[in-house]
Amino acid sequence: MALKLGSHVSIAKGLLGAAKEAASYGSNTFMIYTGAPQNTRRAPLENMKIEEGKAFMKEHGIDDIVVHAPYIVNLASYKPHIYELGISFLTNEIQRAQALGANYIVLHPGAYTDRDVDYGLQRIAHALNQILQQESDLFICLETMAGKGTEIGRNFEELASIIEKVEKNDKIGVCFDTCHTHDSGYDIVHDFDGVMEEFDRVIGLDRLKVFHLNGSLNPRGARKDRHANIDADETNPRGKDYIGFETLHKIVHHPVAQNKPLILETPWLDATTNLYKEEIAMLREPR
Ligand code: FE
Ligand code: FE
Ligand code: ZN
Repeated sequence: MALKLGSHVSIAKGLLGAAKEAASYGSNTFMIYTGAPQNTRRAPLENMKIEEGKAFMKEHGIDDIVVHAPYIVNLASYKPHIYELGISFLTNEIQRAQALGANYIVLHPGAYTDRDVDYGLQRIAHALNQILQQESDLFICLETMAGKGTEIGRNFEELASIIEKVEKNDKIGVCFDTCHTHDSGYDIVHDFDGVMEEFDRVIGLDRLKVFHLNGSLNPRGARKDRHANIDADETNPRGKDYIGFETLHKIVHHPVAQNKPLILETPWLDATTNLYKEEIAMLREPR
């Protein structure tokens, strides 16, 4: 059993900078956006210190890294320019992610805005069918979502429905976000095994490729999506965690999580301070 634990890190100083940041937290994996999460402008790969980054990762036992697609990609959009931008961006992102040595692209399925869920599910599957025309080794991992607004992926059934509509779906995986599933109503705190059984029944555990480890600022079912620091109490500037260390520690050491990238996306305390190093050490420790 091998634990692959890390966090989101910055790519501003290239793959080498990202890998160094990850090592400084005691990570053996990490997640990056290939540029700003809010837009689709991307620096040329030549500037990303890829070879140096890969050498550093090898030396420090870091691997199995994850790319997160930007939030503005919306494959459920009925607006042609947004939809087409999403498809062309992700088609290129597969190339970029492979060049960086990533094995997974995590993607928010999309939001149906003025249409309905069925429209959104069809639209996303249609886009994925186009994107997956190119052969690649990496998995596009649909993220479980909190269910705020019109976002799709708020339950396992919606993700399963997208997957079954995609023809070449052997490269579609799922990213399980602890904050999002808790916020959408799954009882990961009292019955994580039951939630995993349900996942297996509806989607199939072989699709589960990546975890996002976050606390939640809201009670189960709140459909909010606001991440908390692990086990934070009211004295934390960001607020109290409703999921808690016990649950996240149990998930990290659960058989389903072994050999999969487990990525923290917990909040920064202020502009210069995060708790990644402390949170990773806490979670790594066996009990
Ligand atoms: Fe996400
Ligand atoms: Fe997430
Ligand atoms: Zn989130």
